[in-house]
Amino acid sequence: MLGVQPLVAPVAPVEALRRIALLLERSRGGTYRIQAFRGAAETIASLTPGQLAERVERGTVQELPGVGEATAAVIEQAAAGELPAYLESLQEKHSAPLATGGEALYAALRGDLHSHSDWSDGGSPIQEMVLAAVELGQEWLALTDHSPRLKVARGLSAARLQEQLGVVESVNASLGDRFRLLKGIEVDILDDGSLDQSEEMLGRLDVVTASVHSKLAMDRAPMTRRMVAAVQNPRVNVLGHCTGRLVEGARGQRGQSAFDAEAVFRACLANNVAVEINSRPERCDPPDELVSIALELGCLFAIDSDAHAPGQLDMKAYGCERADRLGVPPERVVTTWPVQRVLGWALE
Ligand SMILES: [Zn+2]
Ligand SMILES: [Zn+2]
Repeated sequence: MLGVQPLVAPVAPVEALRRIALLLERSRGGTYRIQAFRGAAETIASLTPGQLAERVERGTVQELPGVGEATAAVIEQAAAGELPAYLESLQEKHSAPLATGGEALYAALRGDLHSHSDWSDGGSPIQEMVLAAVELGQEWLALTDHSPRLKVARGLSAARLQEQLGVVESVNASLGDRFRLLKGIEVDILDDGSLDQSEEMLGRLDVVTASVHSKLAMDRAPMTRRMVAAVQNPRVNVLGHCTGRLVEGARGQRGQSAFDAEAVFRACLANNVAVEINSRPERCDPPDELVSIALELGCLFAIDSDAHAPGQLDMKAYGCERADRLGVPPERVVTTWPVQRVLGWALE
């Protein structure tokens, strides 16, 4: 069962700050404001309860690095046992599901096969992404940072990916059976359909999401060959945001790339690869007519957030609204499956 359950007093100052950031992220609030709350949460988390109580008592909270007037008010109100006024107003405005429609499918989701941390172009540490996923009621999450060629997104070299796998293991060890963070990647599909990471490294991962990020305007025939070759790679489990289109947002608009959708989705079906329904409002990818083609052919789907910040994990509500409206049955959505089933499917 996914979604934001409103917090009630008493709430720890760090929890209040983090929840404000999460609510701002999921409602696409300004980056500067979000960073202020995330930064203040980080500062507070480094203090002992005694140190924080002393500062609250002396009125010196604002002297802490990264703590300003708005964040100090939240800290002081939470420390006094009250529900901070700013958190309360955000909860009133922003606790409702993000989308109208698809609520049952959204409630059926258990995980997510596409998310980014600050190891590549995400804004938050891995641990913060996991905490938010737990708070939102998810059972599992795949960490899929970018691959080396995507330099603008600080794609991970094989060595950094190897290092990240150690972090994933320690996160899982600390969580026990409550939650599972999957080892993953969003690997670039190169011009010839090969993948931007070594076979050896891909073999160490639980799941592989493959996406086209370059030469999106390639001609239809070579683009079709490129995408088919990628999904035929036995390591690939999910075809990410297949058309590459952008429909809104700061990066502007971009048309969909041209390829033979039926051929690509047939290859997905034959190779047990799920077609991603990317929930980001600026992507909204694949377009409805392509989802319908994949549905008709019998493909599996992955309703993913492609979150670059913790609160964006909740954006899967948008993908659920679309999938439900287009008639995608929940059992065909791999992100509704328990983690063991997902792991088994990914290995097939
Ligand atoms: Zn991508
Ligand atoms: Zn991504």
